[in-house]
Amino acid sequence: MARWVVTCPECDHTFTYCVIEPAILEQAFRDPYRVVPRPTLPDRGDNRTCPNCKIESNYLPFHLFYRDDERGEARAHSESPGSDGCPISAKSKRSNHHARR
Ligand SMILES: [Zn+2]
Repeated sequence: MARWVVTCPECDHTFTYCVIEPAILEQAFRDPYRVVPRPTLPDRGDNRTCPNCKIESNYLPFHLFYRDDERGEARAHSESPGSDGCPISAKSKRSNHHARR
């Protein structure tokens, strides 16, 4: 799911500020510039506690970054069968040896 993320100025950890509602995304995709409207933040910014270092920082609208999780999920999904990569390359090496004999 797409979301707004912020980066902690203390430890550079990026965490979710808020999840973007599908209805808002759908509207943005109909926009010729595909601009996803940023959430409304208080004038003096919004305080969020970093889940990594537990330090509370003040975030302004320009601190928000759009992130689409779909790619991340795909990568996470391919991580588990990625361990197959080693045995496969070992096998091909062995068959290469066979061919030479
Ligand atoms: Zn932090």
